Amino acid sequence: MSESKKIQVGDEIEAMCGACKDATVHVVEVIKDGKITKVMCKSCLNSHRYRKPVSAGEKKVVKKAGKKSTKKAPAKTKEQRKWSRVMAKVEGEEPQNYDMSGEYKENDVIDHSKFGVGVVSEVIDPTKMSVVFEEGQKTLVHNRDDA
Ligand SMILES: [Zn+2]
Repeated sequence: MSESKKIQVGDEIEAMCGACKDATVHVVEVIKDGKITKVMCKSCLNSHRYRKPVSAGEKKVVKKAGKKSTKKAPAKTKEQRKWSRVMAKVEGEEPQNYDMSGEYKENDVIDHSKFGVGVVSEVIDPTKMSVVFEEGQKTLVHNRDDA
């Protein structure tokens, strides 16, 4: 280990902070025999022993491991999350089979043969409506007697 930089008390350095659980900027408080022994975290203002910041390479591994552990639940897309939200709002409502000759209004729950269960988010015009499905928002026709 060779410390090439001359660090003095009061200097700002990057160090690991146990409270912040990250490498943060610290102010050097004590240097003993040319080695930093005590630092103060500028984020949480805790004084503690100096710990070298985790190198970028090590950090990546840590992040990857964290991702893996949270992968228990299937990753949801933005569309799925939105769909879950609107579905929660209409909970208990019986979905009606989608029929392009039917007339629908906002928050109606429909069952589409291809897209599945969705919720009407907006009636665009008398024959068009926007429906939120699990795979995303779709524009469907309704009120079409001639179909
Ligand atoms: Zn801290």
